[in-house]
Amino acid sequence: MRVSLVSTGDEILLGEVLDTNASYAASLLADHGFSIGRHYTVGDNLDELISVFKSALSEADAVICCGGLGPTRDDITAEAAAATSAVDLVVNQDVLEDLKNKFSMLGLKWTDNQERQARIPEGAQVLSNPLGTAPGIIVQMQPAWLFCLPGPPREYKPMLAGPVLAKLIEIRNSRSDSKNTGVRMLRLFGKGEGLVENALGDMAASIPGLSVGFRAAFPEIQIKLRAQGATSQDVETILDQAELAAREKLGDLIFASGDTSLPAALLDLLQAKNMTLAVAESCTGGLVGKLLTDVPGSSATFLLSMVTYINEMKAKLLGVTAETLEHDGAVSAACSKEMAEGVRRLSGADISLAITGIAGPDGGTDDKPVGTVHFAISDKTGTETKLRSFGFRNREYVRRLSAYTALALVRRRLLEPPAGAE
Ligand code: ATP
Ligand code: MG
Repeated sequence: MRVSLVSTGDEILLGEVLDTNASYAASLLADHGFSIGRHYTVGDNLDELISVFKSALSEADAVICCGGLGPTRDDITAEAAAATSAVDLVVNQDVLEDLKNKFSMLGLKWTDNQERQARIPEGAQVLSNPLGTAPGIIVQMQPAWLFCLPGPPREYKPMLAGPVLAKLIEIRNSRSDSKNTGVRMLRLFGKGEGLVENALGDMAASIPGLSVGFRAAFPEIQIKLRAQGATSQDVETILDQAELAAREKLGDLIFASGDTSLPAALLDLLQAKNMTLAVAESCTGGLVGKLLTDVPGSSATFLLSMVTYINEMKAKLLGVTAETLEHDGAVSAACSKEMAEGVRRLSGADISLAITGIAGPDGGTDDKPVGTVHFAISDKTGTETKLRSFGFRNREYVRRLSAYTALALVRRRLLEPPAGAE
């Protein structure tokens, strides 16, 4: 079933306000198996809006319009909806009553222009808006449906994700050609989008009902598996089959399916192994600690992240030796090793991680260009170091990539522990 989106308002057309509602709606609806037809953007102009409604409704099964339902004269959506379906706008007494109640409960003065928000195209359904004043409107125009929702994102999003989505699914289910659909997202880190696609080959061709999409959500890659089948059980089977095939090809580069982030996947793994983690950071400035503590409940396994930014602190707090700092420098395998061992000693963690590198834009040399980052992982079996050269795009790029690489290295060590590590 094809759905198109209309965003109204001069502020959206002129780029003063970012159209976050459209991006929210498109991705939510696509995830529920709707095909997204077109996005339209129209200013506060009645004739333009009517013409967009007509054209959108002629090429989609449902059109969702956002904004322009308020009380001011530039709020013309209800009027445009009425004109498009050739009916009158009438004041809905229930809506009017409800509006007046809301005003008195909030202690607001009623003004006559507020009545505009109670004008609904004759015969249309009203969609209540618990978080605002203007209700939504549903107009059935054979064969297409028009949904008009208020613009403020805190009102728009719950109305869309709740009653509108439920109605769209009901409409789809009532159609004889309706199919069940489903989506599953696999998340990976450590391989580029192109390589991931290559590794998977033409998976969609070998599994009927499957389509596959890729997205680089820096620094991770997401694989979206979409399935269509006669029953919901068929859809699940297709998705399971596709996930299995992807995992066979990509192994545990796939760290999760669904909502789990890389830090959350790592914390789960630590918990499953009953192990604790401590971190010593330099160029990432606490980003690893931030990413780990973004996950609720991280204190069960994450003990500490120290940001030892200058040499003196690496020496004083972590015991990095003067010899290492002088001969090898702070950005070196030797320094990362001593940092990891230092923070493990200090915290008593089962496994520790250290990161030291050059995030740029300055500070690079011929033998240590910007983007050079050393990592070390230490546990009771010893300490392993890794060097990565990320090159330079910007400071944020190097730091984010370093933090994710560090988390992935700990994960790898936990998945393939050396003998005696656990
Ligand atoms: P109101 O009763 O607040 O006037 P409304 O339905 O008339 O509601 P608009 O006037 O179009 O909605 O927009 C209200 C607010 O929501 C404005 O601050 C506007 O910038 C914001 N808004 C409108 N459309 C979008 C959108 N597509 N994405 C993000 N914000 C939006
Ligand atoms: Mg308005």
